[in-house]
Amino acid sequence: KDTDFIEFFNKIIDRFEMTKSQEVTFQRKLPRYPIYVTIDQDKLTQVIDNIISNALKYSPEGGLVSFKVEEHANTIQVSISDQGMGIPKKSLERIFERFYRVDRARSRKMGGTGLGLAIAKELISSHGGHIWATSIEGKGTTIFFTLPADLSEEDDWE
Ligand code: ATP
Ligand code: MG
Repeated sequence: KDTDFIEFFNKIIDRFEMTKSQEVTFQRKLPRYPIYVTIDQDKLTQVIDNIISNALKYSPEGGLVSFKVEEHANTIQVSISDQGMGIPKKSLERIFERFYRVDRARSRKMGGTGLGLAIAKELISSHGGHIWATSIEGKGTTIFFTLPADLSEEDDWE
């Protein structure tokens, strides 16, 4: 377990925060101590980039995008929430399928290929994690994923 996920995630959020052109506020609810994970950093960067890009793409002017990391029994749960238009209930599972877009009119306007979340699902699975979404139409969307983490205090024994 060699990557501090908190530092890794903060750097990605920093990069988006420095380059974003919209009037969107970022809020971070992250632990202030390191949490070590074994990940392929390039692949996880691709996953997180897509989720944040989607969140920004669907955020209204003045919207809030929040980032959260929580610990649960040897896993970390990461979530990224936006205050965008949301996703209808019947589409929530399908957004992780290749080429699935929620509606054609929206997709034509927003661009993209509909591959981002399908790739994210494959990469998270290959890391032993899960990815899912919750959403309320008109209120916003949260994408969650988990990763195995080392939360034991093995250092105490050395
Ligand atoms: P790509 O990521 O390949 O550029 P994309 O963003 O359209 O294209 P995905 O990232 O796989 O594809 O997302 C699939 C679909 O899920 C999107 O087209 C959009 O309809 C919906 N979606 C994803 N994230 C959000 C979000 N935060 N708010 C609302 N809809 C979303
Ligand atoms: Mg996308």
